[in-house]
Amino acid sequence: MDLCNLSVIKEVMAEAGITFRKEFGQNFLINRMIPEDIADACANEENSLILEIGPGIGCLTKELALRYKKVVAVEIDRGLIPVLSRTLSDFDNITVINADIMETDIAAVVDEYSDGMPVSVCANLPYYITTPILMRLLESGVKFSSITVMVQKEVADRLVAPAGKADYGAITAVLGYYGEAKRLFKVSAGCFMPAPKVDSAVVRIDLYPTPRYNPKDVAFFRNLIKAAFEMRRKTLTNAINAKFPHIEKGRIADALKSMGLDENIRGERLTTEQYATLSDLLI
Ligand code: SAM
Repeated sequence: MDLCNLSVIKEVMAEAGITFRKEFGQNFLINRMIPEDIADACANEENSLILEIGPGIGCLTKELALRYKKVVAVEIDRGLIPVLSRTLSDFDNITVINADIMETDIAAVVDEYSDGMPVSVCANLPYYITTPILMRLLESGVKFSSITVMVQKEVADRLVAPAGKADYGAITAVLGYYGEAKRLFKVSAGCFMPAPKVDSAVVRIDLYPTPRYNPKDVAFFRNLIKAAFEMRRKTLTNAINAKFPHIEKGRIADALKSMGLDENIRGERLTTEQYATLSDLLI
């Protein structure tokens, strides 16, 4: 069964009495080369556990199951569960869990199924919730080898932007603590049903096996970055002081100067490493 074929998608959904649910960000792939390419690129070892978020009717899930030892797919839409048992019935290495990934204990799921295997994430993410899902994965405490996601092109630009560029944001700086993001390829809106308004891109994040930067208080480091980008128009000194009034402006300016930075610098110019240093100086 070609799960990217539009007639097949319509048929299996009609049989289950369901339609596309916009509120779940359901834009299904209808070009079979895309799930093949994503599945090829998402992990280095065949002997891997792949955690998929949002299998839809299973077009990417199937390609993952053909290439890797075990696939666990978390799908929020209850209506898709009987569809998936039909479309994926040929595979004995797939487990589908009907749950909201934002409510799922990701570490517990990985613990249950990984059996010592390296673990990677692979997903065509629902666009309404891309950044929260990425943050949840990164902060889950699971040592993923890689996270490969299809996201809106603009989000992909943000994830890979270098410090100082307009697209560089809080997610970019926080992501730099966990690993390195690379854009793999662009996917045009016409490859989906229904077609979204914007193009997409696939990004692979390779997680550092051991942290590259070691801020003493990781929660404060993350909050410092969030504060810096919440008030982008302010100088970094003013943005930090607005969020943490107990940290005086003079102290922030001194810390920046000791790092060789201008006290009037804006938050988007600092790299992840510089945020790690600054957070230790302000703690
Ligand atoms: N993987 C399929 C494909 O590539 O054609 C579907 C991708 S579609 C963009 C996103 C999928 O994520 C949908 O199946 C949707 O129901 C599911 N989804 C949305 N929000 C979710 C959540 N919070 N937790 C788990 N799955 C979710």
